[in-house]
Amino acid sequence: MRAPDLLHPRPEGLYCPAGDFFIDPVRPVARALITHGHADHARAGHRAVLATRETLDIMALRYGADFAASSQAAKLGETTTLGGVRVSFHPAGHVLGSAQIAVEKDGLRIVASGDYKRRHDPTCQDFEPVACDVFITEATFALPVFRHPDDRGEIARLIRSVAQFPERAHLVGAYSLGKAQRVIALLRAAGHDGPIHIHGALEKLCAYYESRGIALGPLAPATVDDGQRDRFAGAVVIGPPAAFAERWARRFPDPVSAFASGWMLIRQRARQRGVELPLIVSDHADWDELVATIGETGAGEVWVTHGREEALVRWCELNGIKARPLHLVGYEDEGD
Ligand SMILES: [Zn+2]
Repeated sequence: MRAPDLLHPRPEGLYCPAGDFFIDPVRPVARALITHGHADHARAGHRAVLATRETLDIMALRYGADFAASSQAAKLGETTTLGGVRVSFHPAGHVLGSAQIAVEKDGLRIVASGDYKRRHDPTCQDFEPVACDVFITEATFALPVFRHPDDRGEIARLIRSVAQFPERAHLVGAYSLGKAQRVIALLRAAGHDGPIHIHGALEKLCAYYESRGIALGPLAPATVDDGQRDRFAGAVVIGPPAAFAERWARRFPDPVSAFASGWMLIRQRARQRGVELPLIVSDHADWDELVATIGETGAGEVWVTHGREEALVRWCELNGIKARPLHLVGYEDEGD
């Protein structure tokens, strides 16, 4: 069997004809296998969904319990057979419940990574390399200039800034699934044990993380009534990036604007967004991690998707690995 016969791109997403399923389809389909709960990968309206328990729960939280006509939970490491195709889910280290999906038939194994990172993240299971013939990798930060610093150092800069400006509120932009909970867990690990204020958009997901055993410590709502502004002096307030353009953000006392994202490595992006305190905390692999992971899978062929495909394809070719871009559309990750 040739690899493109087992899995190939269609307008709806990556399709497996033998198993009659799509991986992370961007349009409603009969059967979807979903890598993780970010909105561009997990969409509502499929007939049947196979995903990890956490991803299914996150989809239900975001879209309602009727997000699909039927759903089935995939246990990490266990194999399910769909139309003669063996399918298994493996940790991707991206957000809670995130998984790579291995698809195997007639001795040919393709692994679709979804989004992934290699750094330890206290809020999800670490990435596990899966040996395969073809590895489908994301490429969000696939340029040699992208080297993410240690996340503890970034959080230490936030804590120092809070100590330095005790009269100001620190507003930290962080995507609501994954990044926000990771920033909170990192703050706790660094010894910040007072209440952390969260925007209403984060409440359900933070409560869900807690219910899965990820301790986030005391969280308080970040609602400002006029006349209460001083209550937020010295506070850390976490909200989704979109909320920072709203009136909500202007109600805090002389806020320090921070943003936790891999893109904060680019000073110009931080400036354009008016970010005073850029925190380089990424839920994606950086350049070194991408090329190390490709090596660890032992794949003889790599398909590159959503991001900067060209540089990684070139790197593979220079290193004797067959590679091509997949040109899948519709993936602008909500959790960079
Ligand atoms: Zn993602």
